Amino acid sequence: MSGEHTGEVVGALVGPDRVRGSRPALVIRDPATDEVIARVASLERAESGRAIDHAAAALGPWRARTAMDRASCLDRLAALMRRDKERLALLMTREQGKPLAEARGEIEYAVSFLDWASLEGRRLGGEVIPASVPGKRLLALRQPVGVCAIITPWNFPSAMITRKIGPALACGCTVVVKPAEQTPLSALAIGELALEAGIPPGVVNIVTGAPAEVAAPFFEHPAVRKVSFTGSTEVGRVLMAQASGRVLRVSLELGGHAPFIVFDDADLEAAARGACACKFRNAGQACISANRFLVQRRVATEFSGRLAMLMGDLRAGRGSEPGVSIGPLIDDHALAKVEAHVEDARARGGRVVRGGTRLALRGLADRFYAPTLIEGATSDMRMWQEETFGPVAPVRVFEHESEAVALANDTEYGLAAYAFTRDAARAWRVAEGLEYGIVGVNDALPSTAQAPFGGMKQSGLGREGGHWVMDEYTELKYVCWGG
Ligand code: NAP
Repeated sequence: MSGEHTGEVVGALVGPDRVRGSRPALVIRDPATDEVIARVASLERAESGRAIDHAAAALGPWRARTAMDRASCLDRLAALMRRDKERLALLMTREQGKPLAEARGEIEYAVSFLDWASLEGRRLGGEVIPASVPGKRLLALRQPVGVCAIITPWNFPSAMITRKIGPALACGCTVVVKPAEQTPLSALAIGELALEAGIPPGVVNIVTGAPAEVAAPFFEHPAVRKVSFTGSTEVGRVLMAQASGRVLRVSLELGGHAPFIVFDDADLEAAARGACACKFRNAGQACISANRFLVQRRVATEFSGRLAMLMGDLRAGRGSEPGVSIGPLIDDHALAKVEAHVEDARARGGRVVRGGTRLALRGLADRFYAPTLIEGATSDMRMWQEETFGPVAPVRVFEHESEAVALANDTEYGLAAYAFTRDAARAWRVAEGLEYGIVGVNDALPSTAQAPFGGMKQSGLGREGGHWVMDEYTELKYVCWGG
């Protein structure tokens, strides 16, 4: 991608054009060092609107292609992302900060959504429904929704895009993608590879800049039929209200506040390892990251001890350095929030048994926070109510199963939850009782392309993954044929 490291502005992808934007460029910094790594176009409304024009113009020819042909395009994009895995992973680590091993993992995860969408697209069909009147034919057809506006967050800068554009393209939609301001480079790299894969200009547009300019046309332009958003619940509510103006279809993948329940019959080593992976991946900046640990009294001390020991092996640093498992927080605002949550927990009687402080790492930005374990968590703590989005594990002891489920459900969120137990009957009861879209039973890494991913309550609307995601990008049309 031209522009990286050179001071030249990296253009947004608007149809066949690289648009440098009329507003002052976004300055992209490595969150681990504060080093400027690129300057990226910041578009104004009209420029973003033109991307929608291109998506609208590309829609007819794209939807007219066969599903097999569209799927082949996705296969080629997947192959190119695999070819460029190392470059894409390094780019992600630089703009987002996550350890390189995690960035590589995210590229593989991102590609898996393209692979899956290609397969689902090939077999996406309608239905013939038995009629109640002789001679009539009742058909349910699936047709592409149309131009989709896609808004994505910084914490998974590639996977959150392919999880949407894979199925959207497979269904015959065209897209305009607005990535987060902190991580536009991964998005632009995917857009460039889409062109290299032979996906026609205009099918995938990447618009960069501030939401007030770039996203505003998504809700005004008559060609847009759907908004698919991944990000915070707070912004999701705003977008849902905006979408009502034109009765746009919406898919919302929003925030989470995952409970992680450990029963006294659990395999404690497996639970502690799962907890460590689930909590500290991406420095805790994941929507399905465990936010509240509920541990049954008999095993509470042992579980905390095992988790603390595993936390001792985590090494913070620049993501590109070998052996680093904790990168920086994305920005100063994120660091301030983590610090405020920990101070609030201390003030409310929480015991910090490990961490609890920012880390001063030689030559690196002041944006790293120590993996932190807090015992004695209570419902009135901010971290028990809000997403901390950092490497902090609050632990609370419970006595009974029903108490654990009630505490777990005591939140407006309903994205992911985890339960560790060896009792199969209890596992079923708890999985059914948890008001969450995703439940990991004795498993802390449940996300995969073939399974439905999404939240209940204020964690969202709709599902991504599996065959269910195709519903998000197709309209069901009923044709009644009188003969
Ligand atoms: P965010 O602040 O909601 O931003 C997400 C995206 O929305 C960014 O591209 C942002 O653009 C854009 N945006 C912000 N305000 C907007 C507005 N008024 N109109 C249109 N677009 C707007 O979330 P974030 O901090 O990037 O990401 C973290 C959040 O995402 C957490 O809550 C996390 O749980 C959630 N998340 C959910 C899932 C899931 O699958 N459920 C996955 C990952 C993350 P700018 O960057 O330009 O502000």
